[in-house]
Amino acid sequence: MSEAMHYVLARAADGGRITPDEALLLYTEAPLHALGMAADAVRRRRFSDNVATYIIDRNINYTNVCVTACKFCAFYRAPNHAEGWTHSNAEILRRCGEAVELGATQIMLQGGHSPELGIEWYEQIFSDIKANYPQLTLHSLGASEVVHIGRTSNLDHAEVITRLKAAGLDSFAGAGADPRRPATHRHCSAQGTGHRVAQRHGDRARARHGIHGHLHDGHRRDQRRAHRTPPHDP
Ligand code: SF4
Repeated sequence: MSEAMHYVLARAADGGRITPDEALLLYTEAPLHALGMAADAVRRRRFSDNVATYIIDRNINYTNVCVTACKFCAFYRAPNHAEGWTHSNAEILRRCGEAVELGATQIMLQGGHSPELGIEWYEQIFSDIKANYPQLTLHSLGASEVVHIGRTSNLDHAEVITRLKAAGLDSFAGAGADPRRPATHRHCSAQGTGHRVAQRHGDRARARHGIHGHLHDGHRRDQRRAHRTPPHDP
């Protein structure tokens, strides 16, 4: 490892800030184990009792029907495709119950952008889950769903977010706000839009770096900063 890289990692581990150029250097050249050790040093410094926590969360994909057709996606089926499916509310609730029995405290509902699912469908399933499993946190959907629901239900983003929250959504997940090139992800236009509106409404929303290696360049990674909600993003 170069001296420059060692210096950057040591400064970050000691609580110092790194510049965008240094972040790019780490992204493109840092050995994985060295990055992991620096991250672990930060965790130990910030949480001196050396306790690392986790939650049990279940992802439930409610439909594979999608009009967006991202180039990397092998999951979706176009509307009217013979292999398209959408789970019933009963099936989604069954999966929630299964998760609760295994100790889950959070559900992440994620699925395709189905033209058949308007805001009422999401309101119904969120309120059904909350009625049956009030102990579950609903950390679900994301910027791209907000934009899609707005289109299918003829609502602006703020109205979509307000109604989803009223139905039981606790926080937005990050899908659709991942920093990617537009060529990789057609719903990139939703990246900032939905999350910025969500944050204006005081919602917890984050942009995760969920899909690695898909035509990213290093600079895209730095875009995460634009989407962060600092108090909740580790
Ligand atoms: S929006 Fe989601 S389900 Fe639809 S094509 Fe893109 S990644 Fe696949």
